[in-house]
Amino acid sequence: MTAHTWRNWAGTATARPSHVARPRDEGEVADLVRGAVEAGRTVRAVGAGHSFTPAAATEGTLVHLDALDHLESLGPPAADGSRLVTVGAGIRLHALCRRLAAHGLALENMGDIDRQSLAGAISTGTHGTGARLGGLATQVHGLRVVTADARIHAVHPGAGDGGASLFELARLGLGTAGILTAITLRCVPAFTLTATEAPRPWREALASLEDPATADHVEFYWFPGTAVALTKTNTRDGAAPPLAPARRLLEDELLANGVFEVTNRIATAVPALTPRLNRLAARALGARTYTAPSHEVFVSPRRVRFAEMEYALPVEALPEALGEVDAWLRRSRENVPFPIEVRVAAADQVWLSTAYGRATGYVAVHQYHRLPYARYFRAIEAIMRRYDGRPHWGKLHRRRADDLAHNYPRWADALAVRERHDPAGVFANAYTDRVLGARVGGIRGR
Ligand SMILES: Cc1cc2nc3c(=O)[nH]c(=O)nc-3n(C[C@H](O)[C@H](O)[C@H](O)COP(=O)(O)OP(=O)(O)OC[C@H]3O[C@@H](n4cnc5c(N)ncnc54)[C@H](O)[C@@H]3O)c2cc1C
Repeated sequence: MTAHTWRNWAGTATARPSHVARPRDEGEVADLVRGAVEAGRTVRAVGAGHSFTPAAATEGTLVHLDALDHLESLGPPAADGSRLVTVGAGIRLHALCRRLAAHGLALENMGDIDRQSLAGAISTGTHGTGARLGGLATQVHGLRVVTADARIHAVHPGAGDGGASLFELARLGLGTAGILTAITLRCVPAFTLTATEAPRPWREALASLEDPATADHVEFYWFPGTAVALTKTNTRDGAAPPLAPARRLLEDELLANGVFEVTNRIATAVPALTPRLNRLAARALGARTYTAPSHEVFVSPRRVRFAEMEYALPVEALPEALGEVDAWLRRSRENVPFPIEVRVAAADQVWLSTAYGRATGYVAVHQYHRLPYARYFRAIEAIMRRYDGRPHWGKLHRRRADDLAHNYPRWADALAVRERHDPAGVFANAYTDRVLGARVGGIRGR
């Protein structure tokens, strides 16, 4: 196919791939990898382009896996009702949730949106919130990946002959193990969530985040310069009435997206109004409680464009770190009309996961796309680093391989797998060179 300019959702990354491929099946993926290697070109898969970082950008071959979106197999139910489900790696999360629901199944946990591809979401460590739950990659039970030698590997945690290590890098490794073609997920019986949304002082909301007795999924959106946060508390299998469609439309589309776009535009034009707008927003978002299928409660539409940086901290560091963020915002008077999102996750064992080995608190800072973010994000990043913070791989940050390595106990293992399966850097790009290290003598044309 002819070259074109590729741009991510946020407009924070662009690239001009020399080739664009849309394979229809796994065999075509293997063929295109073989062809690209013979021609000396690098290869990057892209999902929905929802990473803020140039994670998927390439000057080589850009591969869209949208055609690999089928449900391949459904395993028998385990004692707890969960089932292993194998799907094409390019499937979008919203399509996956619909198909799972048709079989009485659901994802155990999700992030804020469902526009991403499954492969793209796991590759950057996409997560939701819940003190007892991990990110999407922890729900992966096995996968198939096409490596640089064009071989198709079916791997899982118990696979021998290096297969288990390949699995670890492939399930969360920015696409550096190869191209994922199929993913097996452990899915749980479909469940409903009762969402309770209410404004609260953010320090109070913070105290309830870690307490598993509070609810299964707790998070809050804190308006900079105010003491108030909108808390979202999702509890499994409650029985509140559903939201009337008209109310949902009004609150999610008009208030959360339409009015929010307008307040951001005003804040951009008249920065002096931002503190008042933030106080108003914190008050205007009223309380509501409703019950709905889990995948409808986890996600909401995000139509106002923004840039984002998110850091993962040891959860016990959250109060002090957020105190510093608050102090910086008040001192600097930075114009930030976008709330800060705070979430939690259980410790996991996924090598390059931001929650590896520690119960984690996430702090996500956002900026409206028409406003500058560099100074804000730099200041918050400096604070997060003091608390041993790990940046989300798909969100903006300025870290490099040499100062990330010490944050990840299994860093050397992950890099050894990469060296073994992709010594020439077929699946590298400028971003992976920066955050994981460049391949010596690697292929050009990234
Ligand atoms: C509005 C918005 C809301 C968000 N909310 C959340 C949230 O709640 N929680 C959270 O953690 N993150 C969130 N994110 C970040 C987002 O989930 C991640 O950046 C995710 O990686 C995007 O998925 P994607 O399909 O767009 O992947 P892309 O950005 O297209 O790609 C991401 C990476 O995956 C690789 N990749 C894609 N497909 C394959 C494949 N088949 N094989 C190998 N590698 C592949 C790419 O090369 C790239 O390195 C949000 C982003 C946006 C824009």
